Amino acid sequence: MSVLMRDEAQTRAQLIDVHRYTVTLDLTTGDETFESRAAIHFTALAAGDTFVELKPALLRSVTLDGQPLDPAALDGNRLALPGLAPGEHELLVDATMRYSRTGEGMHRFTDPSDGETYVYSQMFLEDAQRVFAVFDQPDLKAVFELGVTAPEGWTVLGNSVATDEGDGRWSLAPTPPISTYLVAVAAGPWHSVRTEHAGLPFGIHCRRSLAPHLDIDADEILAVTRACYDRYHEKFEEPYPFDSYDQAFVPEFNAGAMENPGLVTFRDEFVFRSAVTDTERQTRAMVIAHEMAHMWFGDLVTLTWWDDIWLNESFAEYMGYQTLTEATRHTDTWVAFGIDRKSWGYDADQRPSTHPVAPDPGSVPDTAAAMLNFDGISYAKGASALRQLVAWLGEKDFLAGINTHFTRHKFGNATLADFIDSLAASTDRDVHRWAEQWLRTTGVDTLTPTVANARTTAAANGSGGSGGTGGGTGLGNGSETGWTLHVTQHGDRPHRIAVGAYDRDLVDPG
Ligand SMILES: [Zn+2]
Repeated sequence: MSVLMRDEAQTRAQLIDVHRYTVTLDLTTGDETFESRAAIHFTALAAGDTFVELKPALLRSVTLDGQPLDPAALDGNRLALPGLAPGEHELLVDATMRYSRTGEGMHRFTDPSDGETYVYSQMFLEDAQRVFAVFDQPDLKAVFELGVTAPEGWTVLGNSVATDEGDGRWSLAPTPPISTYLVAVAAGPWHSVRTEHAGLPFGIHCRRSLAPHLDIDADEILAVTRACYDRYHEKFEEPYPFDSYDQAFVPEFNAGAMENPGLVTFRDEFVFRSAVTDTERQTRAMVIAHEMAHMWFGDLVTLTWWDDIWLNESFAEYMGYQTLTEATRHTDTWVAFGIDRKSWGYDADQRPSTHPVAPDPGSVPDTAAAMLNFDGISYAKGASALRQLVAWLGEKDFLAGINTHFTRHKFGNATLADFIDSLAASTDRDVHRWAEQWLRTTGVDTLTPTVANARTTAAANGSGGSGGTGGGTGLGNGSETGWTLHVTQHGDRPHRIAVGAYDRDLVDPG
């Protein structure tokens, strides 16, 4: 199987424009496989060759513009589409696909406690091709219209509102243009708690055996969901881009959660089965807020290539903590960030394996390399850098820049350069230089303070360390001698620091 190279993705994005996928899945054909039919409508912008990806158990038939192609031509996960003429094309692919037990593609799980079966998809980062034939890269967005046939008694969930057509057939409303890695389906005899907010259907779902545990916490989960939703609408000018908001707590999930538009999936360990600490409740609330931030940053505006995955994650991380602090009872979230997440970033940044927050695009040549960047740099250091940026720009200008970014690139793709350009339109500060200094470099700076009273100041300054740019700050505490703070910096980035001075002894407790 071939992983997709960045230059291959760029070449393909220049050649074709994908409009619409009509995908039909039949989940009633046994425990091992399911049936998948995809009709893909796309335009070739010039004459040329390209390929579509697919990892089938059996490729039954392929038809391009009414002409059959040989299924045996499938080479690994790639089916060549040679000699495309400029203009409109229709590709029909009929295949049998495998369920997975690894959380890749369409995961299938049978609950040992009651024998009920559930399936759900995880298409990140190039696993849509495990479910249907697809041009599997983030900057070939398209409208997705899915139909699912499911066993009697199941409920089907997806990116958009699902309609039960009877006889186990479900249809999902067409999505706005979204990336292939964000398509989602979850089907099974879910236990659901449904409500409505801001005129949209909201739902939370879990496997039946966890129903009592979800019900106990449903009010809390939905309250956090509503509060974050409302707060994001105060921050962002673009309205929530999809037609519903479902959150499914799914079994055997590899990650913490996945930001599929309109259908966020969470590991079902977040449905608590015994008494938990308030910190665990805060963590769950944080993940809810984080995934919802992705509806705008990630789903509405999507990275062009995987070198910008840090920007997705740092933004969601920053927005999640900040919004939880502003909109819910969890007002101390930045303390948890400082203790837990930020130390993860410091740790990762002092190892030989560290990398710039924003890696050079050339260092992420393929999708396999992209996976290596899911670390303390992309999440924690990046979120710290964004928080620092907000402090420096001021939240008003930062949000103005974000809203410019959403307006410019909605339902499309953008790069770090686009993001910085959007910010630059809203501030007179040099954000390009900030990005070079903080996002394109590695490692930590060390600032070492030395405090001396006036008589020994000369000696203290003289001993300032090597390689740094020292600066002295008079503290002037009113005593007759006075004190001097001397800071030695190892590192080249600009810092602005605040200084506080305190009496060591409480001479006058009042
Ligand atoms: Zn995320």
